[in-house]
Amino acid sequence: MNDNIYFMALGGGQRVGASCYYIKLGLSNLILDCGLGIDQNILFEPNLYCLLTSPFIQSLSQLNQIYISHAHLDHVGYLPKLLKETSNTPVFMTEMTAFLSEYQIYDKNFITPYRKKKEQERMATQYLLEKKAVYVSYMQTIDMQQYKVTFFPAGHIPGAMMMLFEYKNRKILYTGDFSVNPTPLTDGFSLPSGIEIDTVIMCGLYAKRPSVKRYSDGLGRLVEQVIHLLQNGRTVYCRVQQLSKGVEFLKVLNERNKEENLNYNIFIEEEVFRIVKKMEQLSIPIMTENNYLLGTCKEKQMHVIIGSKKIEQFPKYEKVKVDFTLHVDFDEMVQFIKRINPKKAVIVHCSEQDKDSEDTIEQRLMTDVQSRTQVIFAEEEKVYTI
Ligand SMILES: [Zn+2]
Ligand SMILES: [Zn+2]
Repeated sequence: MNDNIYFMALGGGQRVGASCYYIKLGLSNLILDCGLGIDQNILFEPNLYCLLTSPFIQSLSQLNQIYISHAHLDHVGYLPKLLKETSNTPVFMTEMTAFLSEYQIYDKNFITPYRKKKEQERMATQYLLEKKAVYVSYMQTIDMQQYKVTFFPAGHIPGAMMMLFEYKNRKILYTGDFSVNPTPLTDGFSLPSGIEIDTVIMCGLYAKRPSVKRYSDGLGRLVEQVIHLLQNGRTVYCRVQQLSKGVEFLKVLNERNKEENLNYNIFIEEEVFRIVKKMEQLSIPIMTENNYLLGTCKEKQMHVIIGSKKIEQFPKYEKVKVDFTLHVDFDEMVQFIKRINPKKAVIVHCSEQDKDSEDTIEQRLMTDVQSRTQVIFAEEEKVYTI
C-alpha cells in the first residue's frame, strides 16, 4: 500500500447539490458530507455506485467514518439513506448540526406538503442520529489511529465545522460551506494561525463567478423592503423557502426593529418557531419581546408573519419571498486561499461560470506572485491523488 491520498466527488463537484466526497487516508475510507440536490423541484442523489465500482471499496459497510460539515440539505439530505446501508459506521457532527439536520430533512418534503409525512421523516432521522451520531466540538482533536482529525468553526450557519485531517505528515482541510465574515447567526470561520495546510478541499460556490458580491446585500435589502412596507401601514407575510432561513431572517429583522425602536410585532409560524426555540436552548439568542408564536396572540395593525405556508392563505397581506445566500463571494474566497496558502486547492460545490469573459479563482491565483496554490476543479466520479 502506498501513502497516496485519494479523493473522489460522488456528487457536488462542478455543480451545487448532493455534496458527497470520498477520501482515502491509508486504510481508512471516509465520506465527507452526504447531501441531496434539487433541480427544478426534482431531488437528485450522490452516485455511490461509482465508489463501489472503484478499486477502493466493494461494500458501503467498508466505510470507516462519515463527517457532516453542516446541516444544509445539500450536505446532509442523503445521510438517512446512507446510514441504512452502512451498518456500524459512525457519523461525526456537532450537536447543532444533528438537531438542524432533522429539520432540513423535514423540510425537504416541501414538494409534498403533508405535515404528517414530514414529521415522520424528521422523527426517523432523529432516531437514526441518536444511534449513529458522535457529537464533536470545535477545537476538539480525535486520534483515529490511521489519522487525526480536528474540528473548527466554519461560520455560515450554526453548528457548521471545517475539518483538518492529519495523515503521514500531511494536512488536508475540508471547509464545507463557510463564511469569512459574520452571518446573522454566526461569526466567520476560525482557524488557528500558522497551520501549514497541504491541500484544501473547498466548497467554492462562486469560484468561477468573480462578479457575485456577498449575500449581505440580499438579506439586508429584504429587511429594508419589509420595514418600508410596515412604515406605509401594511401587514407583511414573509414566506421562507427554507425553515432555517426563516430563523436568520427573523434575527436580522429583530435587530433592525430594535435598533430604531420600531416595535413592530412579528408572528412566527409554528414550524419556524420550534427551530428558533431549539436554537435558543442551544445558546443562540434570537427572539425579542415583540415576537410571538402565530395564533397565540391577537394580531395587531402593521405586523409581520414569518412562515413557509402557501401565500394564497394570507390574501390581505403584502407578500415578500425570503431567499438569500450565506456563501463567501469570489473575493472572500481568494482572500481565504491566500491566507492559508495551500499547495493544492481542490474546488467542489462550484456553480457554473457566468460568461466566457470572466476569470476563475485559478486564473486569479496564477497572476498572484505570493500564491503557490495549484487549483483543481474536481469533476464528479473522477479519482484524484491529492
Ligand atoms: Zn450550506
Ligand atoms: Zn452547500
